[in-house]
Amino acid sequence: MDPQQLIALDRAHVWHPYGPMPGRTDPVVVESASGVRLRLAQPVEGVGELVDGMSSWWAAVHGYGHPVLDAAVRDQLGRMSHVMFGGLTHEPAVRLATKLVEITPEPLRHVFLSDSGSVSVEVAVKMCLQYWRSLGRPEKRRLLTWRGGYHGDTFQTMAVCDPDGGMHSAWSGLLPSQVFADLPPAGFDAGVDEAYARHLADLVERHAHELAAVIVEPVVQGTGGMRFHAPGYLKVLREVADANDVLLIFDEVATGFGRTGELFAADHASVAPDVMCLGKSLTGGYLSMAATLCTSRVADGISRGELPVLAHGPTFMGNPLASAVANASIELLFQDDWRQQVKGIESALRKALEPATVLPGVVDVRVLGAIGVVQLDHDVDVAVASRAAMREGVWLRPYRDMIYTMPPFVTGDDDLARIAAGVLATVAAA
Ligand code: PMP
Repeated sequence: MDPQQLIALDRAHVWHPYGPMPGRTDPVVVESASGVRLRLAQPVEGVGELVDGMSSWWAAVHGYGHPVLDAAVRDQLGRMSHVMFGGLTHEPAVRLATKLVEITPEPLRHVFLSDSGSVSVEVAVKMCLQYWRSLGRPEKRRLLTWRGGYHGDTFQTMAVCDPDGGMHSAWSGLLPSQVFADLPPAGFDAGVDEAYARHLADLVERHAHELAAVIVEPVVQGTGGMRFHAPGYLKVLREVADANDVLLIFDEVATGFGRTGELFAADHASVAPDVMCLGKSLTGGYLSMAATLCTSRVADGISRGELPVLAHGPTFMGNPLASAVANASIELLFQDDWRQQVKGIESALRKALEPATVLPGVVDVRVLGAIGVVQLDHDVDVAVASRAAMREGVWLRPYRDMIYTMPPFVTGDDDLARIAAGVLATVAAA
């Protein structure tokens, strides 16, 4: 299809994330992708190829068209692309679940595979609600979280997104009412603020009789504001949850698989949740798949209840193609030494983004693992900002007051330098 015709049809018929219908801006048409590069169907700002600074929203950690991942999909395709998971099982899903149990914190032993991060959070919430129902305490059905979070776009997940930055005002009255703690104090290295720890403990204690679980994104709050906090708060949450008979959910959909410098963000504090959500880079960004893991305590509790099953079962649960590529992606992470890759990206980003600290309008520059963020004192015009990055040959998708990057782990030094130059140019233009 001619790119102009494709754009016209796209604008007429195709919804994009958080987009109007019909679309008001022309999307960039990608013809193919390989390594860390997106090849465009027609040049934009005179550039035909962009270095991807976004890993397709935290997912494509190994880049695009990776021969090992391509082969895993092809190989599985030769056997079967899908079979239902009710009553049937297969090696790719069993291997994946077993591997996830092996690499996540110790007490997580059981895995529910689903198709997206939002659904994995829905399943996590359902697990916790069902657990307390089974134990004869159905009144424990609210959730507590801190402000600034993001957990997805379905209704339960929207209810625990930041109440101001999220969609709460648009859906007031429709979303379940949850309990919100203040924003966690900023700074990975800041240490635990005792007053804030007390605030968390007080709030959990006060609502314990009605709380099923505390749910947070550990260490990095992603889409809600790209904020980092001290891992010590995870310990605080673990202690107050235990002391008050409340379960603890870590949503590691964005942070899982090395992005923050540890395999899971929970590992920064050596804290294990009762329930953990994974998604995004689980399949190396190849196919849509997510996982919800839980402890035997949670699984046993559910299975001893009046409704002794976990009442959830998506059509594409355990999809063999997605499972096969997830297995290959996890193997590749270890083979490629993800820790070294992320360390390298962290030090490159720290150095290359440092000049942004003195640019007008910049209020903060922060880097953790393979995540770099420049925060401005004003909101950006997304179209203007991403065009400025494209002029530098880089794909970025700034939003609100943030210009940020989380590059594929395989990004080389020259491409990292280019991404950083793209961030700086975007700051100057925004
Ligand atoms: N949880 C977190 C922490 C996320 O960052 C996201 C996606 N940005 C989700 C859940 C939802 O995942 P999905 O978009 O795959 O539904």
